[in-house]
Amino acid sequence: MDLKQYITIVPDWPQKGILFKDITTLMDNGEAYRYATDQIVEYAKQKEIDIVVGPEARGFIIGCPVAYALGVGFAPVRKEGKLPRETIKANYGKEYGKDALTIHKDAIKKGQRVLITDDLLATGGTIEATIELVEELGGIVAGIAFLIELSYLDGRKKLENYDLLSLITF
Ligand code: IMP
Repeated sequence: MDLKQYITIVPDWPQKGILFKDITTLMDNGEAYRYATDQIVEYAKQKEIDIVVGPEARGFIIGCPVAYALGVGFAPVRKEGKLPRETIKANYGKEYGKDALTIHKDAIKKGQRVLITDDLLATGGTIEATIELVEELGGIVAGIAFLIELSYLDGRKKLENYDLLSLITF
C-alpha cells in the first residue's frame, strides 16, 4: 500500500514557510492506519520489545496500537507539568521552538528493551530527548519507528547509532 497518498500537505502551518504533513487523513482511514501499524509491529517483532515509548501527542497514536498488538505496555513521554508523579526531564529544540519532555521515573525498568515511536522525524530533537529519557532510566533503545521521515532535515544523522524504521519519506 502506498501510504504517502494518505498524508495531506498543509502549506504555511503552523508557521509561514512550513509544509506541515498532516497524518489525520491517514489515521481516519481504517485500512491505511492498520497497514501502517502492522508494518511497525512486524519490525518490532524481531526486536524482543518489552515496552513502547512515544512522545505526546502523535507518538501515542503510532505507539499505542503497536503496544497492543505486541502485548506489551506503553509509557507516555509528555511535556513538562503533565505527568502526575515523579519524573525525569530532558530539554530539546525542535523544528519550530524549544521545550522539555518528561517521563515517569518508574516507567521503564533497567535493561528493558524499548521501541520508541513517533509520527514524524524532522530535525530529530524530539526523539533525541526521548532517547535520553529512556537511557537515563536504564532502558535499551532496541528500535525507533516513524510514520514519516523528512529526509531533507537530516534527523537520521543524529540517530545513526540506533536502528530506525520510517514508512514514508519526503
Ligand atoms: P523534530 O524534533 O524536529 O524531529 O520534530 C518532530 C516532532 O515535531 C514530532 O513529534 C512531530 O509530531 C512534530 N512535527 C514536526 N513537523 C511536523 C509535520 O510536518 N507534521 C506533523 N508533525 C510534525
